[in-house]
Amino acid sequence: MCGIVAYLGKNNAIPLLIKGLKRLEYRGYDSTGIAFIDKYKKLAVIKKKGKIKNLENAIPEGLFSNIGIAHTRWATHGEPSDINAHPHTDCKGEIAVVHNGIIENFRAIRDFLVNKGHKIKTDTDTEVIAHLIEENYRGDLLEATRMALNIVEGTYGIAVISSKEPDKIIIARNGSPLAIAQNNNNYFAASDASAIIGNSESLYYMKDKEICVMSKEGLNITTLDNTPVTPEFQKIEFDLSRIEKNGFPHFMLKEIYEQPEVVMNTIRGRIDMENGDVRLNGLKNYEEWFRRDVNRIIFTACGTSWHASLIAEYLIEKLAGIPVEVEYASEFRYRNPIIDKNTAVFVVTQSGETADTLAALREAKKKGANVFGICNVVGSTIARETDAGIYVHAGPEIGVASTKAFTAQIVGALLIAVYLGRMRNLSYEEGKNIIENLLKLPAKIEGLLKEHDKIKKIAEKFKDNKNFLYLGRGFNFPIALEGALKMKEISYIHAEGYPAAEMKHGPIALIDENMPVVFIATKDSIYKKVINNIEEVKARNGNVIAIGTKGDKKLAKLANYVVYIPKTIDVLIPILTVIPLQLMAYYAAVLNGCDVDQPRNLAKSVTVE
Ligand code: GLU
Repeated sequence: MCGIVAYLGKNNAIPLLIKGLKRLEYRGYDSTGIAFIDKYKKLAVIKKKGKIKNLENAIPEGLFSNIGIAHTRWATHGEPSDINAHPHTDCKGEIAVVHNGIIENFRAIRDFLVNKGHKIKTDTDTEVIAHLIEENYRGDLLEATRMALNIVEGTYGIAVISSKEPDKIIIARNGSPLAIAQNNNNYFAASDASAIIGNSESLYYMKDKEICVMSKEGLNITTLDNTPVTPEFQKIEFDLSRIEKNGFPHFMLKEIYEQPEVVMNTIRGRIDMENGDVRLNGLKNYEEWFRRDVNRIIFTACGTSWHASLIAEYLIEKLAGIPVEVEYASEFRYRNPIIDKNTAVFVVTQSGETADTLAALREAKKKGANVFGICNVVGSTIARETDAGIYVHAGPEIGVASTKAFTAQIVGALLIAVYLGRMRNLSYEEGKNIIENLLKLPAKIEGLLKEHDKIKKIAEKFKDNKNFLYLGRGFNFPIALEGALKMKEISYIHAEGYPAAEMKHGPIALIDENMPVVFIATKDSIYKKVINNIEEVKARNGNVIAIGTKGDKKLAKLANYVVYIPKTIDVLIPILTVIPLQLMAYYAAVLNGCDVDQPRNLAKSVTVE
């Protein structure tokens, strides 16, 4: 979360930093700022609350500098304001720091610094880093930063510049992502590759507790305890058009429409039709272990990835017969999860940088578990730290509300379920049937997306409602949760997801003519039960919006509004039912004038706990 960009080289840093910030804005956007060395060799800082536009308006025309650092913030400590925006400076305004993460012992450090006479100006945890560097400065910025970082506890990706040594940038990381790149005598650092592409062809992802000095002389990387590091640069595989809107008004809508292609990308190269099976090269080294020993699986994740994990639970239990538990990553790490040598732990994450999921991964490894990733971003921290896993290949997801990555995660989970199932009781015929139907799915999603006008009309009808209830059963219960989450995230309408039958144990009290109830009532094994639940809502004057299966006339009579999904086999239903719910949340947000791609208080890739 939050974005850092740094540049040193022959060109003007200011426009390069702004361009980099724009590419990172989805990571945080409550304030932005830059620091650079001006023509008098003094440190200059410009920072503003709000979006990058505000910062751009505050930057005088014609400003030039060869060196600078920049930040887009997602506040953890201290409200979003001009003063709390990064960069933060020391007492004399000679050292500037941008930081992503949380300094957990900042209060103790602040008290220490105040005792020493430092003047603290902001409410952030970050500011203490600038003062600690000042406190430890004895003529060497690298050493002073190293000493400061040996005192702080918590997570950080930082970039530091100082007018005391105006021709270098210090970059360091512990727990928050940072990549560095070079191109002739130009040097870059950023929280992710998107801010670097176009400037360099390869980059190096820093590891925890590494510190780097960028200067005209090149890059010098060491560990915090001063062991030299030889960076292994990797080629940037990133298609610039994928982080542009390509004619869509919002990234979210573009990403919703990319889902047919994404499903194909997740499947590609993994189908073994001849054997009614799938091939997962990412799990190959553990194949025998999965076949013989695994008797329990734990999934751990956050947010939308947690919903995908709940679907994975249904799929793996149904197709492979292995018991699955699903845990919030933030809870998992603070419990004492029971893990033995036959337990497989899967972590599910779009960004591969989610702090809670990373902590859960590390906790599971500490307990001796084999940990596997279902991850989108190639080369991300979680992808590197898991023992093995699969990439879902959804491509860069910029919209803060996850859509295509969720679909890809479900497809990934289905592939794993078939893979594990075929090692056990799943028959060739069943495996083949699932795969054949999976291959038909992209065309069905295409067809479903054509229903957008109808869905928009439903959103129009209900956009002013304050509450929504989403109900589903079986595979569609996590979809009810996900539909409600999408609605909350981007339209700020309160929405709750519930197992449909649980409604009568509480939420039914809320139902009246002002409560739209979204039912996911597809023709599956528990269809009749869901129909009963719809009757119960109708009997209390509730407004029912139903997602049903094409041809279900009975549902049309019962519900006030129906959107039909094409027929498919049970295990694929959730991949279709989520799509109208994504569109409904999208249109409700647009019609209410909300900022769809950058909803308030949220940010993509939550790299703080
Ligand atoms: N903890 C810092 C702050 O609240 C950094 C947050 C971020 O990662 O953007 O300013």
